[in-house]
Amino acid sequence: MHWPAVCENREGGTGNRGRGGSGVMPPPFRIAVLGAQGVGKTSIVQRFLRDDYSEAPTPGQSRKVYLSAAVLNGHVHDLQITDYPAISSFPGSSLQEWTDSCCRGIRSAHVYILVYDICCFDSFEYVKTMRQQILETRVIGTAEVPILIVGNKRDLQRGRVIPRHNVSDLVRKTWKCGYVECSAKFNWHVLLLFGEALRSVGCARCKHVNATIRFQHALRRERCALM
Ligand code: GDP
Ligand code: MG
Repeated sequence: MHWPAVCENREGGTGNRGRGGSGVMPPPFRIAVLGAQGVGKTSIVQRFLRDDYSEAPTPGQSRKVYLSAAVLNGHVHDLQITDYPAISSFPGSSLQEWTDSCCRGIRSAHVYILVYDICCFDSFEYVKTMRQQILETRVIGTAEVPILIVGNKRDLQRGRVIPRHNVSDLVRKTWKCGYVECSAKFNWHVLLLFGEALRSVGCARCKHVNATIRFQHALRRERCALM
């Protein structure tokens, strides 16, 4: 599974403009990628945007914002993907968010992708804490923001520290969040996880139909494109 076309990636911007210049495009889906240091956040984002992978750990003290777009079922959706460093806590107020430059924009994300390393127990604890803090500190009225939990490094599953069904049950049944396992290294389920993230935000033009089926259908036929 791959994106058939990579047409455009703009790194480092934070703009909220739609393409076409008419002002009618909806604002981009803002996707925040969070997790402990070394779990593979940057690898996942780079694999998704550039089909690129490096064995070298990324130095991760600053956030990186990428502007991109996805075509789902013939409709263009702007995406703003932010790769955050391992923040010590989710900012509890707009002021805190502004003061810590690493955290800018984090409170207004439309969806959170919380990544852990399936071989690292502490990284799952980090995800647990971060999810709790997101629920506690998001501004009133936006508490329902979707959270997708991602177990990365699936290729190393012999070193898995928590059985998959335990995590999956907790995440899906108790937390009511989506759960995806992936391998950035082998490009396994990376596309799927971003698809899940997009679906959870809600494809506005697909909301009267079963977006899951339409989206999966689109993937199978390779009608999705990253622009
Ligand atoms: P970040 O700190 O969360 O951004 O993590 P990085 O993306 O920098 O990755 C940390 C290390 O894990 C790097 O050495 C990557 O090559 C490695 N890594 C990332 N994803 C995978 C994966 O899916 N499988 C394996 N085996 N290693 C991975
Ligand atoms: Mg990184």
